Amino acid sequence: MSSALLSYAEAAAEVGAYAAQLGRRKPAAERVELGCAPGRVLARRLYADRDQPPFARSARDGYACRAREASAHLPLPVAGSTRAGEAPGGPLPKGAAWEIMTGAAIPKGADAVVMLEHVAHLRAAGNPSAERVRLLPPRKVKKGENIVAQGAQARKGEYLLAPGIAISAAQVALAAACGYTALEVFARPRVAILPTGDEIVPIESVPAPGQIRNSNGPMLAAMAAAAGGEPWLLPTVADHAQALDAALTEAAKADLLLITGGVSAGKFDLVEPALARAGGRFYFTGARIQPGKPVVFAGLSLSERGRAGKALRSLPVFGLPGNPVSSAVTFLLFAAPVLAALAGRAELGPRFALARLAADAKAKPDLTRFLPASCTFGAATGELPEVALVPWEGSGDLTALARSNCFLVLPEASGPVKAGAIVRILLP
Ligand code: AMP
Ligand code: MG
Repeated sequence: MSSALLSYAEAAAEVGAYAAQLGRRKPAAERVELGCAPGRVLARRLYADRDQPPFARSARDGYACRAREASAHLPLPVAGSTRAGEAPGGPLPKGAAWEIMTGAAIPKGADAVVMLEHVAHLRAAGNPSAERVRLLPPRKVKKGENIVAQGAQARKGEYLLAPGIAISAAQVALAAACGYTALEVFARPRVAILPTGDEIVPIESVPAPGQIRNSNGPMLAAMAAAAGGEPWLLPTVADHAQALDAALTEAAKADLLLITGGVSAGKFDLVEPALARAGGRFYFTGARIQPGKPVVFAGLSLSERGRAGKALRSLPVFGLPGNPVSSAVTFLLFAAPVLAALAGRAELGPRFALARLAADAKAKPDLTRFLPASCTFGAATGELPEVALVPWEGSGDLTALARSNCFLVLPEASGPVKAGAIVRILLP
């Protein structure tokens, strides 16, 4: 076990290197209905089954025309009409216009669309059907204006999305446009969550004096699910060496193990020795961060009997400090990137953004701070979002955590940070 604590950047680099290594092995793939795909990770390339758009399309309600003729401001007889969904009409006769709706196919011969709002309608006296339109001067129209060319967004057979992309609404829409009713996604990694502590009782029980409910278990399960894992919440284990050894053996069936509590320097903080007994290789046993300083990252080498005989695999294990804010921060900073790699995601995180600080904040000389904060993301145009600290009573303050929507990052040795400064925030 190492002695000198790593800086945040050094600890993040250890995790980054480990995750990058993991990321080379792709998880197994499975097929899910399109409606079940949001939140999953694309496992196969997504291809265009036809040109997108499949035909030259009008971007506006108006009149298809030849730009040169319309720009001469001649009255053009309306030779036909195409609604969205109809086959392409035309050809467009010389010196004529063609009524067209948004999303409809451009008739052959037309090279521009003038918007409905930009034309005058001229009706021939005594012949209401002989409608003519004229582009209102001085407006001109350019070739290609208001036309989305066939294949402008994608060509048939073109590869549109790479494996590793997290699927949300836009990817589902693109898949639907390309005729996919189901998608190949990566299997979710199983994330074991092991709460520890003699004082921790199940949420449904009435805590006796000195006891508290297990809030980290459900919190980490929610965080693991949001990060693309399949949470496996284990029963809380007592601060007892043998009990911990047994729980580790059981939890080792997972793809990632999150232990919460028991990693501080106290007499009953037994997680580190238990990991050492299990043959763990420690990447770090603490980092210069607040909250979360005692965080542990280790790998357990497991030999597994599979169909192909015995194989070695490494189980990543995080020992997250038991205080709720510490557990949340260390999950986001260190466990989430490893989970993302196990889930086959290309983007591993953590995610940071910039904001303007609302009021002075105190950095620490030797710790990078990640403090519960509230950011108003709905800033006015051209303004950075504004971030304010949520008042807190330290890393056990679950109320402050639940009232925050990000963490203010105060790098070590940065001195006092003044209101108005541009600062980094860690996004959940
Ligand atoms: P530890 O990291 O075990 O020293 O715990 C630090 C603090 O976090 C203590 O006040 C614990 O009671 C609290 N804590 C530990 N585990 C949990 C948990 N699962 N849910 C809520 N609080 C916890
Ligand atoms: Mg404890």
